[in-house]
Amino acid sequence: MNRVYKFDLHVHTEYSYDSTIPIDKLIPFAKHRGLSGLAITDHDTMEGLYQFFKSVEVDDDFIVIPGIEVTTDRGDVLLLNIEHYELRTNNFFDVVDYARSVEALIIIPHPMDPFRPFKGLNRVIDYVDGIEVANSSDILIKWHFGRLVKLVKECGKAMTAGSDAHIIEAVGMSHIILDKEVHGKDELMKYIKSGYVNVHVSRTPLTLRLRKLARQYLPLSK
Ligand SMILES: [Zn+2]
Repeated sequence: MNRVYKFDLHVHTEYSYDSTIPIDKLIPFAKHRGLSGLAITDHDTMEGLYQFFKSVEVDDDFIVIPGIEVTTDRGDVLLLNIEHYELRTNNFFDVVDYARSVEALIIIPHPMDPFRPFKGLNRVIDYVDGIEVANSSDILIKWHFGRLVKLVKECGKAMTAGSDAHIIEAVGMSHIILDKEVHGKDELMKYIKSGYVNVHVSRTPLTLRLRKLARQYLPLSK
């Protein structure tokens, strides 16, 4: 069987208000899970990424895409391949304009999640680059996956997938799969944009969801 390369494109670190994933443990764990790379996408901050790149050595065979998950008035928006984020508004269209100005990839994460839906996706789909078709935190992930893949195909958009991990054990649960070796971040971004990806779909088990809450609210359980 040919080797495949797996990338989790939605991971939070301890710099997200609701995540406990230590930046120094992230890469060893991701490699142990068989990932070849991941995107760090904290909520409304890039501080975790700055600290990560300052303090963590990343081998050439592992790719880290800098990203952010921005809260907007329509729902969350993932920006991938972005170095800095300085906008102070939650207007969706302002976020899109800013992302375009810095050439970030604009993705709508978990658009059908009943707890975190995106408002009016069909009306704004032309403004974005892609849709996250699998998000492990979405309790209806398997039901939504087929519908979202159909949507991206109809609209000619890119598709991404990620664990939306907030505790380390969830890293890598859903991910994109490539059957070609990827040489660096820019090549990976090209594959994502071109739609040359497969997706592994896996929902975060209830035990890990409960553990996330315990770690978030009962620090001693870390
Ligand atoms: Zn997230």
